[in-house]
Amino acid sequence: MTSLLRIQDIVDDRLCYEKIRELRWSKGVFCPHCQSKVLNRHGHHNSTKHRHRYQCKGCQKYFDDLTNTIFQGHHQPLKIWVVCLYLMGLNLSNSQIAKELGLTENDCHAMTSLLREGVYEKRPQEVLDGEVEFDELYVIAGHKGIPKL
Ligand SMILES: [Zn+2]
Repeated sequence: MTSLLRIQDIVDDRLCYEKIRELRWSKGVFCPHCQSKVLNRHGHHNSTKHRHRYQCKGCQKYFDDLTNTIFQGHHQPLKIWVVCLYLMGLNLSNSQIAKELGLTENDCHAMTSLLREGVYEKRPQEVLDGEVEFDELYVIAGHKGIPKL
């Protein structure tokens, strides 16, 4: 059966980004490169206007709401991730989620595995050669804080 409605078509991109900002920057926006909190808003991501960009005044680097998160570098828009997380919360199987979101099972499996690891923020590369700093990891506890869609 073809559904009349695709959930991702009625999910608001802006609200997804607001939620991610709320989760990620709960203690204020900070630079993922040097942890400085002194920064400027610097417009938005080229293709995604709700994805805020910043420039760090400490190291001068640019970053945005998704820099160094598992959501970065994947071609799925953020709302697909958010809906995927929501559907996981309903205990849908990978193949049901794939069908709902119009993804291949492989893509869907890759996403749910990442989400299931609960790692919201990736460990910065620089840390790999030294001590492992686990406070760089932000863990989503269950599905707390995920928007009710
Ligand atoms: Zn910085």
